[in-house]
Amino acid sequence: MDDCIFCKLANHQIPTSIVYEDDDFCAFKDANPQAPVHVLVVPKRHFANVADDVPTEVLGGLLKTAVKVAEICGIRDKGFRLIMNTGADAGQTVMHLHCHVLGGVDMGEGMLPR
Ligand code: AMP
Ligand code: ZN
Repeated sequence: MDDCIFCKLANHQIPTSIVYEDDDFCAFKDANPQAPVHVLVVPKRHFANVADDVPTEVLGGLLKTAVKVAEICGIRDKGFRLIMNTGADAGQTVMHLHCHVLGGVDMGEGMLPR
């Protein structure tokens, strides 16, 4: 999709720090990391977010790729958090489906900052 930053990153039109990629997915470091490990996993095909009628195989592939990224980053066994911000109330700022992979620190049990 024209004018989508994540389409451009995933399809090598803009250089980025790629952690993993295959034919369908790309994972790159978040530009504003919120944890020692903070990687974004995106499908190379454009979807706005997880509520955008995404095919099941894309959703499955996204999660499988996120686990692969956790393995590559050495946090699979210690633990990691996956986040998919969806829409305005969730604070989604980039309208291309992405899954945050966060880890490398003890994030505690709460899901939201208090
Ligand atoms: P979200 O709030 O879920 O839409 O998060 C979008 C994420 O994309 C944020 O964590 C940003 O830091 C990250 N981001 C925005 N532009 C870039 C970029 N050019 N390269 C890497 N990460 C980016
Ligand atoms: Zn896109």
